Amino acid sequence: MSRADRVCARFADAGIDLLLVAEPVNLRYLTGFTGSNGLAVLGPQTRRFVTDFRYLERAEQEVVGFDRERGPQELLDALKGPWPEGPVRLGFDDAHVAVRTHGRLREKLPERVELVPAGGVVEGVRAIKEPEEVERIGAAAELADTVFRELAEAGLVGRTEREVAIWLEHRMRQLGADGPSFDSIVASAEHGALPHASPRDVAIVPDTLVTLDLGASLDGYASDCTRTWATGADLPEALAEIYAVCERAQREALAAVAPGRTGKAVDAVARDAITAAGYGESFGHGLGHGVGLEVHEAPRLSRTADGELKPGNVVTVEPGIYLPGVGGVRIEDLVVVTEGGCDVLTHTPKGLTVVA
Ligand code: ZN
Ligand code: ZN
Repeated sequence: MSRADRVCARFADAGIDLLLVAEPVNLRYLTGFTGSNGLAVLGPQTRRFVTDFRYLERAEQEVVGFDRERGPQELLDALKGPWPEGPVRLGFDDAHVAVRTHGRLREKLPERVELVPAGGVVEGVRAIKEPEEVERIGAAAELADTVFRELAEAGLVGRTEREVAIWLEHRMRQLGADGPSFDSIVASAEHGALPHASPRDVAIVPDTLVTLDLGASLDGYASDCTRTWATGADLPEALAEIYAVCERAQREALAAVAPGRTGKAVDAVARDAITAAGYGESFGHGLGHGVGLEVHEAPRLSRTADGELKPGNVVTVEPGIYLPGVGGVRIEDLVVVTEGGCDVLTHTPKGLTVVA
């Protein structure tokens, strides 16, 4: 089944006859179009793709399986017609369409076309990766593994967090990445207690922990991996301890990833291990998230994630322990859910690694 057919298979549950797709990443997934101004109308018998004159050539090269149309500059005007006879329930992405756009849509559409909120329909299909997508995500992860390996050789002590972050992004591009899949995190010493720290103009000192969270965007697909390295063998005991606890929790959670398990259940494995060691309050985020065309997508692994994992899901497993004023640790792998468990796509070593 094509991607478009798999999305259409969800229409009955969503209560729609047709789906309007305008979110660029969903448009890319369904049609192949990488431009920034396009829309598609999708249905069991309908494959309309509309873009403006600037993107016609690109659309001709990229868009497969859809009828290409040159639309007016204001693409929504293309939605005045044609529509099938009788009442039509047109799904739209209520998670992304602004209220103002919704109002304009309503004005353009014939009255018999009802707008039905249908956010997440494409995302639900995207969450289950095709083998080719897993390969691309794996290639992005491998590129980041190479950058980690080079960084271990280049060293950390004496360089500022910002210098290291810039170097990481530069190397990713040199190795063929479209760019980083998100702003790299380089957080040393007490700064590591902030899960989303911005790199500072502060030199990295010996005998502390440095959290390195980076991902490459390659061929449109993202990767995501975190390692926390020691900058000397003489690590303060508090930091050595949280590292050991986090690593154990991460390995246990990895072993728990399997189809049929809920995101909540896998999150609980890591959370229980960290709580049992006395750091439950210091793990303040969810265990993981889906990765694909976007670095944060469905499904989630968190305390509230009721959905069951399915083969083909690609998710991160990233417990962390953050001690304000002291430091932090996070260890993150990217895995693909298989019939029997999961395969890990990130291969940078995880045992406490000293990089001075
Ligand atoms: Zn990450
Ligand atoms: Zn992540």
